[in-house]
Parts: sequence; structure tokens; C-alpha cells
Amino acid sequence: MSNEILIFGHKNPDTDTICSAIVKEILIEKKGNSNVKAVRLGNINKETQYVLDYAKIEAPELLDSVEEGQEVILVDHNEFSQSVDGIEKAKILEVVDHHRICNFETAEPLFYTARPFGCTSTILYKQFKCSNVEIDKKEALLMASAIISDTLLLKSPTTTQHDKKALEELANIAEIDVNEYGLDMLKAGTDLDDFTEEELVNLDAKKFEKDGVKCVIAQVNTVSIDDVLKREEKLKEAMNNEIEKNNLDVCVLAITDILNSNSELIVLGNRTDVIEKSHHLENDKVFLEGVVSRKKQLLPLVESNI
Ligand code: MG
Ligand code: MG
Ligand code: MG
Repeated sequence: MSNEILIFGHKNPDTDTICSAIVKEILIEKKGNSNVKAVRLGNINKETQYVLDYAKIEAPELLDSVEEGQEVILVDHNEFSQSVDGIEKAKILEVVDHHRICNFETAEPLFYTARPFGCTSTILYKQFKCSNVEIDKKEALLMASAIISDTLLLKSPTTTQHDKKALEELANIAEIDVNEYGLDMLKAGTDLDDFTEEELVNLDAKKFEKDGVKCVIAQVNTVSIDDVLKREEKLKEAMNNEIEKNNLDVCVLAITDILNSNSELIVLGNRTDVIEKSHHLENDKVFLEGVVSRKKQLLPLVESNI
């Protein structure tokens, strides 16, 4: 067991999860407690790697599981199904998150900050402000990157005024041009060539269960949906493997065009009706105009049809 308090986001880490864990460590250390350490629960994706390279910082260490009583702080998630193995027995000291609260329970009191903002880093930005802790260039860049990633350059319907205001100030401190840096960063994440279909389906996949129906909604960002669909048959094969391996009722892969803010869905499993009740599927697929957010658009759609 680590003597340090471990800080981490969800499995299949995205830019917000990694950056927010690092930034939370910085914030706590600046407030005088050095016994904290950001870690990660999975591979760094290419978008996040672009950010870490730009900021010239190392990726946090990989963590597989925690032992009973390990002190932890969760960022960018709370659902145990998305957290580290062993989380049920860990001692959760704090949560900072912008998702719904679901299947979450602790034995002891804790600090819990939930805000319906577009990004966890926007909440952390406010924590810096409330604590009167100065924001330096490094953490400003990390938080700005997280906000750009989660809100797709402020275009996702999850974006709030809080995110816009935070990004404006953070970009100033980080000395970046939001649109130029942001597009380069997002594009870095759309280079999917090196990934196997199995990896693509797992890159950014969120698992959840409602009324006994087991679902996965996976998402990949691209600048060309057609390009990704060249691999359609193999992607379907990989999705069917996931369904079998994890006993899923439905697996949705959202291929999201970050330039035009649309998504093509591939939907497989024995409960494709979670999409089909609302949208006609052709060849297991449907194109959804203006849909980019799993949290605000896809998840509610799927859950309302279960
Ligand atoms: Mg996230
Ligand atoms: Mg440390
Ligand atoms: Mg997030």
C-alpha cells in the first residue's frame, strides 16, 4: 500500500482525467501537503500525449489496483465501475467530478465537489481561486487542455459559461492561442492509424448498467468519419468480441467528427433497440447530426430507451 494519497481519474483515461489528476496534486502541494501523487489507470492516448509533450512533463505512473484502506482522491469520475480495481475497500478522501453520481458509496465522510460543468478542470480552476493559490503556466496549460478536450473547443452542448471563462483566463496564463493550440491538440488525438480495432473500441469506452442492461458507449474522435468507416467490418468484429467477453447487452461506438460536430454510431448487441426506438439503423449504423456528447446526448438517449 502506498503511504501517499493517490489521485486518479477514470479507466481509459482521457485528457481531463490525466490533467485533472496532475493539477489536483499540484494544488494540494501548493497548499502545503506534499504527500500526494497523481497516478493513471490506463494508457495515455495521443491527444493527452500531445499535451504532456507540450508541457514537457512525464505521464503519471500506472496503477492497477489498490489495497484495503488506501487513501485516494477521485477526479473526473465517481462510478466504481469506471474506477480502480479494489476501490470498494479504499478510503476515498475526496471527489472532484462533473458527472452524475452513480453507484457511489463510502463508509466515512468525505469532501465531494460535484458541478455540472463541461470539465473537471473547470472545477479545479475554481478551487485554485477559492484557495487563493496562484495558477502557474504549467497547470494553466493542463487545465486549458482538459477544457478544450472535454468541450471539443467549447462546441459540445456540455459547455457552460464557467468553462468559457476559465479557458479564457487559463489560455492567457498558458500563453496559448486557444483555437490554434486546441485544434492541433484535438487533431493529435484523431490519428488512429497505429491502433488495432480492439484498441479503438477500448480507447474511450464507458461501461454502465441500468435495470440489468449492460451497456458500453465507446467514442473515437476523427476529422473524417469516412476514414474510420473504412475499418467498419473489423470494428464490428472487435465490438462483437467485447460484447461476448463482457456479457454486454449493447455496445455503441460513436465516431465523432470534431470539425463538424456530428457522430456516426455503430450499434451492436441484443439490445440495439436502445438506439433503434429513436433512430432507424441501417447496416447497424446511424448518422446523428449535432451529436458529440456521450454524457449529455448519447447516454440520456440510451437510458431513456432501456
Ligand atoms: Mg473524462
Ligand atoms: Mg507528489
Ligand atoms: Mg471530464
